Amino acid sequence: MPNIQEECSEHEDVLGGGDGGLKVRSGVLSEMTNGVEENVHKESLMMELTRLVQKVMKESSWWERRGVDCSILTAAFLCLPPAFLLLGSHHLLWFLLGMLLMGVAHAVITVKGTHLASHGALSESQTWGKFWSIFFIEICGSFSAQAGIHGHIKMHHAHTNVIGLGDSSVWKVPFLPRMVYLFIAPLSVPLITPLVALAHLKGHSSFAVARTLLMIALGLYSQYWLLINVSGFRSTQGALFCMLVSRAMFSVPYIHVNIFQHIGLPMFSPTSRPKRIYQMTHGVLNLPRNPLLDWMFGHSLISCHVEHHLFPFLSDNMCLKVKPVVSKYLTERKLPYQEASYLSRLHLFFNKYQELMVFAPPITELVGVQ
Ligand SMILES: [Zn+2]
Repeated sequence: MPNIQEECSEHEDVLGGGDGGLKVRSGVLSEMTNGVEENVHKESLMMELTRLVQKVMKESSWWERRGVDCSILTAAFLCLPPAFLLLGSHHLLWFLLGMLLMGVAHAVITVKGTHLASHGALSESQTWGKFWSIFFIEICGSFSAQAGIHGHIKMHHAHTNVIGLGDSSVWKVPFLPRMVYLFIAPLSVPLITPLVALAHLKGHSSFAVARTLLMIALGLYSQYWLLINVSGFRSTQGALFCMLVSRAMFSVPYIHVNIFQHIGLPMFSPTSRPKRIYQMTHGVLNLPRNPLLDWMFGHSLISCHVEHHLFPFLSDNMCLKVKPVVSKYLTERKLPYQEASYLSRLHLFFNKYQELMVFAPPITELVGVQ
């Protein structure tokens, strides 16, 4: 487990914070002193919050830190045998139940599983962390682990809402009308994902390319083989259609969640970005708890997205556990703790689609707080 304090100060360094080094102009000593005090205060906000979170971590058992989430993922895998068997039933109701079970298990494994694996939150060992990232992202998620980790950790998390770096523009498809983008295009996510992975493989070593292609093929073929040999599908088209339906079942909320929590919030310039605590509290939003989405996507993507961006190495269950501490601290310090309901965000994106998803976002300067 990384030391939170080290990680925090490392982030502060890596992420710059724009004014990390005080500029001493014309030898104005008082200005310099005020600047130093102010800087120390800003450092201490993140450090103070980090200490509070670290205390919760120390008081938590392995079960709370990793066990709960590993059990949810195991449960999703255990749902697969009955799902394949139910899909072989001639009764419509059982067949539909099998389809639902397969869709839910697929969402848990490929959204919650790949997300936690990309953060290395499933294991304390680096070797196991690498194994899980390849297993979840490539075999289960049909994507490249290297590209996934680069895009999510090194870009989105490191440069949240910074224009041109972590501004969520990968999710924008400006030429699509809003109805198509919000409700129809997401259904093609299972088809697009491996194609995007192929595009990302350019420039990688031939070993990495071969491994990724092999792992993606293994994941897709395993499901196909089981549908033919366990569920008894008689046609290739039928099995492929079943794969598409189960993989696309929750891709509409998946796309929604990805855009709802960042787009439309303050965006920052790469040259004058705010300190990390301001960047994350202004640029990230939490959705309310929702039993289905909590299980399938994980707390860190739903009701604890702010906590996840402040402390990205915490598991879903730990994000939920530190949520009261983080929200109380931010509220007391008069920092934003942004929350909005799924429907209100959908309403906003539907009505302001052009502004949010087509035009370039305006840059926010957090004057007075940094
Ligand atoms: Zn993340």
